[in-house]
Amino acid sequence: MEETQWLVDEMLGRLCRYLRFLGCDVEYVRGLDDSEIVTRCQSEARRLITRDRGLASRLPGSVLLTRTDIGGQLAQLRVLVPSLPRTVSFVRCSLCNGVLGPVQRATLDGPALSQLPPAVRAGTAVLYQCRACHHLYWEGSHTRAIQDRIRRWLDAEP
Ligand SMILES: [Zn+2]
Repeated sequence: MEETQWLVDEMLGRLCRYLRFLGCDVEYVRGLDDSEIVTRCQSEARRLITRDRGLASRLPGSVLLTRTDIGGQLAQLRVLVPSLPRTVSFVRCSLCNGVLGPVQRATLDGPALSQLPPAVRAGTAVLYQCRACHHLYWEGSHTRAIQDRIRRWLDAEP
């Protein structure tokens, strides 16, 4: 089964970041009118997530959310999209949706290394780098906090 590719509109920027933490391919668009969003979804075969009922009605298969809070939105998504991943994974860049890949510390240059806290720079945690924007990711207390938050939201009543 092919992985769903998503598009979220500008009301859902925070949700977009959390879906990327879960490894989802999510494009975030701003400043497009409804027709442009419809065209983009169709031409890129992306499924829309939106809070705009009118827009959702123009694209079959769209996911319409009614909640305004991130926790409620994820709880709704879990019900509407049962296949939604539940685990944080280092697959997609939360900033730009680029693809992440593991990277060796020795191959990083100064500007890249300067993104890292000293303990991570000196440590052994696996590093992942965005192939598009070069942002670095690693497993740590921050990713566990994100995972805990997501789990709490996904387990909540929508
Ligand atoms: Zn990136």
